[in-house]
Amino acid sequence: MERTFVAIKPDGVKRGLVGEILTRFEKRGYKIAALKVLNVTEEIAQKHYEEHIGKPFYPGLIEYITSGPVVAMVIKGENVIEEVRRIMGATDPNKAAIGTIRADYAQVMQRNVIHGSDSKASAEREIAIYFDESEICE
Ligand code: UDP
Ligand code: MG
Repeated sequence: MERTFVAIKPDGVKRGLVGEILTRFEKRGYKIAALKVLNVTEEIAQKHYEEHIGKPFYPGLIEYITSGPVVAMVIKGENVIEEVRRIMGATDPNKAAIGTIRADYAQVMQRNVIHGSDSKASAEREIAIYFDESEICE
């Protein structure tokens, strides 16, 4: 079964959206294989967003993701990587399709509530940053 990495970003946690977001994935039938609340350190943030180092939004992104607790998870299902990206919607909430998480709960890219891996390689790389294999259920 395919697996992906999802994180509810600090704004989503502060606003009490964890339950709503988990419900969307559970209703779709995806299985939560690992779940934790953590404060993302500078070091974790830098690893996670390695591909964006040097971009103009990078400092703001690091500040954002380290600004409060994050809910990190591994979820499993058929074609889950691509489907979670569709359920999340486009990076910019103003361009996200109505009914997606980002369109329903966010207004700006700098506070877009959720992260989801964009490929198999990213999913495995990101899962390994946040979880030990022993923390992930079958
Ligand atoms: N981001 C931003 N400004 C930009 C582009 C991205 O603040 O111009 C933030 C936004 O929170 C986004 C994250 O950086 O979710 C990672 O960007 P990416 O392009 O990987 O988007 P995602 O994969 O999250 O849709
Ligand atoms: Mg991305």
